[in-house]
Amino acid sequence: MRRTFLRVLMIFGLMAGGLGLGAGAAPTAALAAYGAVKWPATGVITGKVDDRCPGYDNHDGYDIAGNYRSVVSAAYSGSVSYVGWDAGGYGNFVIISHASGWSTLYGHLDGYVSRMRVGEYFNRGDGIGYMGYTGGVSPPGVGGTHLHFEMLRYDSPQVWNSAGSCGQSVTRGGAVPFDFAGLN
Ligand SMILES: [Zn+2]
Repeated sequence: MRRTFLRVLMIFGLMAGGLGLGAGAAPTAALAAYGAVKWPATGVITGKVDDRCPGYDNHDGYDIAGNYRSVVSAAYSGSVSYVGWDAGGYGNFVIISHASGWSTLYGHLDGYVSRMRVGEYFNRGDGIGYMGYTGGVSPPGVGGTHLHFEMLRYDSPQVWNSAGSCGQSVTRGGAVPFDFAGLN
């Protein structure tokens, strides 16, 4: 009985989050929409969360290897919360904040579009920067060009490995086949 009651409370909380009630946003559909998040770059998947592709460990996102200076776009609409530099890791990277506690991180960028700054709003699909090899990439240099892409919730990287497979080609703007609760 009590467990059921708690579950109802939890479901209501998730729905309220999806409705954006806490943030005062306009009401939207409560349920996540499959494919609402779009791939931010065109290329080949070479790494997944916790490295489900051969290479290295402790990996928090997907690696998408593509053409140097190809466009990287926002996977979902939101405001930039961080623009940073991480010499041994992410290189030039950006974090965009979304609804329901979600955020996306884009690393190893060669550079940014001119309007990139904290607080700037980008629609899903808008270009945010260019694929590069800044920070720690393997192999070093232009041959290591790829996008490091994370889906975080409340600042913790999430595991969404069923969305793509190692060696799979993805296209920028194509739907990510995964439900991210609260994103629709
Ligand atoms: Zn990576």
